[in-house]
Amino acid sequence: MINYDAILEEIYHEVKPLVGEGHIADYIPELARISPQKFGMAVQTIDGEIFQVGDAAEKFSIQSISKVFTLTMAMQLEGDGLWQRIGREPSGTAFNSLVQLEYENGIPRNPFINAGALVVADIILSHLGDARQSVLDFMHRLCSETDIDFDHAVAHSERETGFRNAALANFLKSFGNLDNDPETVLDAYFHHCSLSMSCIEVARAGIYLANGGKLLGNGERIVRANQAKYINSLMLTCGTYDSVGDFAYRVGLPGKSGVGGGILAVMPQEFSICTWSPGLNDSGNSLAGTKALELFTTLTGISIF
Ligand code: GLU
Repeated sequence: MINYDAILEEIYHEVKPLVGEGHIADYIPELARISPQKFGMAVQTIDGEIFQVGDAAEKFSIQSISKVFTLTMAMQLEGDGLWQRIGREPSGTAFNSLVQLEYENGIPRNPFINAGALVVADIILSHLGDARQSVLDFMHRLCSETDIDFDHAVAHSERETGFRNAALANFLKSFGNLDNDPETVLDAYFHHCSLSMSCIEVARAGIYLANGGKLLGNGERIVRANQAKYINSLMLTCGTYDSVGDFAYRVGLPGKSGVGGGILAVMPQEFSICTWSPGLNDSGNSLAGTKALELFTTLTGISIF
């Protein structure tokens, strides 16, 4: 078993000058209230150990990291049928592009852009009826704890300002790619994005992706091993906005970021890791968080490449 404590301390020291750099995602007003001076990092190994540094226990808005977990649920519910309605290619455009959705006839490029996640939310709604509670229940199951909730102020803030997401949902509906009412789908989606979790919780929640689709401890299966592979592949190719190439080059791990400044990354058969620092780079990924992950794979020599 590797002890990552010293490496995390070294990373913390190295990235400190970057913490506070970049910009906060203030297009969601409630996110603009977060101090840019935060930095946390947690590593969950498949041996069951957790290593952490900085603000790793502080909850933050996981935003688009939730798309990994809702995709997992949609895969459980719909299997391959999912891919009739969503593509699996990097978007090469903004995560909330309307133009791309229009000329591709309402089929979102991948499940990690907003349009894709709206279709995923629609699938959960159609199968389970309640796409809020079912996602919360799923997160509780992944983390073996019930202290995870939505941040209702963030969800409300998104609802008040999410005109572009509303346009995407209406577009999808007009193309016949939503079964439920756009308002209901948006409400579910905004709540999924508002999940409030710490680095430790996000890393723990993502461990099934490193562990062949199974939880630690009781070994409960969340998805099949090949489905865990599919999700990791999508994270690598579509998980970090319009800079997946740069992220793969620097970090060398599948990752999914969110505009709250969190990033979940996975090393199959080894660990899941989460960083959080709210300042974003020009591509919308956490500036200090990306650097910390780059340092982690460089210092440990562990990456998928
Ligand atoms: N809730 C955010 C939005 O829809 C998610 C953005 C993100 O984290 O990528 O704009």
